[in-house]
Amino acid sequence: MAEDLKAHFAFKPIIRGMEISGSKELFPIGKVYCVGRNYADHAKEMGVNVDTDQPFFFSKPSQAVSQLTSIPFPTQTENLQHEVELVVFLGSECSNISPSESKQHIFGYGVGIDLTKRDLQTAAKKASKPWDLSKGFDNSAPISKILKKEGLLLSEGNISLKVNGQKKQSGNLSNMIWKVDELISYLSKFITLKAGDIIFTGTPSGVGKLNINDKIEAEIENVGTLAFELI
Ligand code: MG
Repeated sequence: MAEDLKAHFAFKPIIRGMEISGSKELFPIGKVYCVGRNYADHAKEMGVNVDTDQPFFFSKPSQAVSQLTSIPFPTQTENLQHEVELVVFLGSECSNISPSESKQHIFGYGVGIDLTKRDLQTAAKKASKPWDLSKGFDNSAPISKILKKEGLLLSEGNISLKVNGQKKQSGNLSNMIWKVDELISYLSKFITLKAGDIIFTGTPSGVGKLNINDKIEAEIENVGTLAFELI
């Protein structure tokens, strides 16, 4: 295995980069993890109990990450839903670390939406099959510009989402069941996290259906804003 970009690859590796607020540098996108049911009010609206013993995760492919302001409405769904989430960006490698060791690996934060094909997810759940394709598709992870805040552990702040000017989701980061440092620590016990990795931290209640031509605006206090249109 070679991890050197100067190696003689059979074809040119694709590295995608995200915009960082106030910087000309790009953040190289690595793996994308998302935690499920990290706010009790959202677990309740999904009709499930909160599992406080351990968090659970799923992944999205790197091509899910999008900073487009116009996103093509995805194929193969009749029920696309929004989930506004705080997104954490990692700036260094870590493995098997404790929550107290987590914050030194934080590069920054963003406002993200975990776009979900709820119809596909519900059908997969019923059949006890994986829900990958309901969560991982082109542009299924729109994210704002990154706010660079190295070493900062964010634990509170209002988080909200509007569709066509109407408020649909509203919560506070302080209501996360698993905090940012605990999420990083937990994941690092199962896989080596690398600089460039991205973690979606769960959504508060109010998730709902999106339609073509909808204008979506999301905001997290002290982090930033995200706006895009489904076309
Ligand atoms: Mg989510």
